[in-house]
Amino acid sequence: MVREIVTVPAPVLRQKARPVTRFDGKFQKLVDDMIETMRAAPGVGLAAPQVGVLQQVIVVEYGDDEDESAPLQLYVLANPKILRVSEETEIGVEGCLSIPGWVGEVERPLTLEVRGQDRYGKSVRHRLAGWVARIFLHEIDHLHGVLFTDRALRVWQPEEPVPDNV
Ligand code: ZN
Repeated sequence: MVREIVTVPAPVLRQKARPVTRFDGKFQKLVDDMIETMRAAPGVGLAAPQVGVLQQVIVVEYGDDEDESAPLQLYVLANPKILRVSEETEIGVEGCLSIPGWVGEVERPLTLEVRGQDRYGKSVRHRLAGWVARIFLHEIDHLHGVLFTDRALRVWQPEEPVPDNV
């Protein structure tokens, strides 16, 4: 089921999400709905607070920076903890499904290592680089009530719609 995406200035976007403790049927439904909502938007990532649920879970679906024909990879990550980020950073232009019509230049680490749990509660660890690392950092920020506009060097309203909303 596609859920409604919450947009600014909804207070839920500024609150801290709680850890997921029950990987039960209700949680599976939330994850399925988040995937469906992300795809319908369309977007490449979504965090639970963006559908009004203060639980620490994100979904990301992204391919390969270098190879457009590569298949998309779907990630579901609950209770993410960032283990390390690179000192090397990159400035990229981000948009957000919760801040329609705006984009901003955001400087973020180029790579990260993150651990957490998959949708069934199993421990997982991901090493990520490039645009997918940026998407993860953007989504994990949502779990802490942080929006890209807080980090942006500058924001503006583009004439063209943004392809990769998160
Ligand atoms: Zn966002």
